Amino acid sequence: MMVRAQWLFHSLIFPLCLLACAEMPASHPVRQAQDPVNVLESLKNGNQRFVHGELLHPRQGPDERLALAKGQAPGAIVLSCADSRVPPEVLFDQGLGDLFVVRVAGNIAGPAEVASIEYALEHLGSRLLVVMGHDSCGAVNAALSTPPGKSAGSPDLDRLVSEIQRNLAREHFQLKSADPANHNQAMANVDAVAEDLRQRSEIVRERVEKGDLRIVRSIYDLSTGQVEFWSR
Ligand SMILES: [Zn+2]
Repeated sequence: MMVRAQWLFHSLIFPLCLLACAEMPASHPVRQAQDPVNVLESLKNGNQRFVHGELLHPRQGPDERLALAKGQAPGAIVLSCADSRVPPEVLFDQGLGDLFVVRVAGNIAGPAEVASIEYALEHLGSRLLVVMGHDSCGAVNAALSTPPGKSAGSPDLDRLVSEIQRNLAREHFQLKSADPANHNQAMANVDAVAEDLRQRSEIVRERVEKGDLRIVRSIYDLSTGQVEFWSR
């Protein structure tokens, strides 16, 4: 029954949702597509405000809400972990309509995540894609602590864990770590996911090659609040 429900979602409901979204006023963005360099600078500045406890909570009032009801043009797409301590809008101190956020445990790029990113690229004009992992990620920890052939608890958990295990294997990481926060492993997972997006999605790859999309990798420190960025 669960498999059938998932099939129904992925085959019918999710595409219909995307179609419905595409029919919404998204085709009339309230802002022009933004320069990815400026958007990244805005994220870095917002993160510094967050780190120092100086949040501005920008663009979150009724006027912005009303304007955004007519359409959206988020400056950045953020693929990040579903962890409750890692909300991109908060830790980058951004407002309504600023970020198109795709969140999933372990910030992996499965079919629904890739499709969501492609939708934002095709319809919303975003030109910056941030893949963000974080220290002490439960999904990464599960991948490191689940021996090959052992179940993580359910078929879907197994798929998630094995995807991260593949990512770590691709980056030549052993499935053991002395660092309880698994910082390097979380970074390796981000690197593999960013590369995965280019390989799996023609829309992503073409835009990167044309210079219309910048992919930036990042990792969030749970205790300092600092986001570290890097590119390849
Ligand atoms: Zn996580």
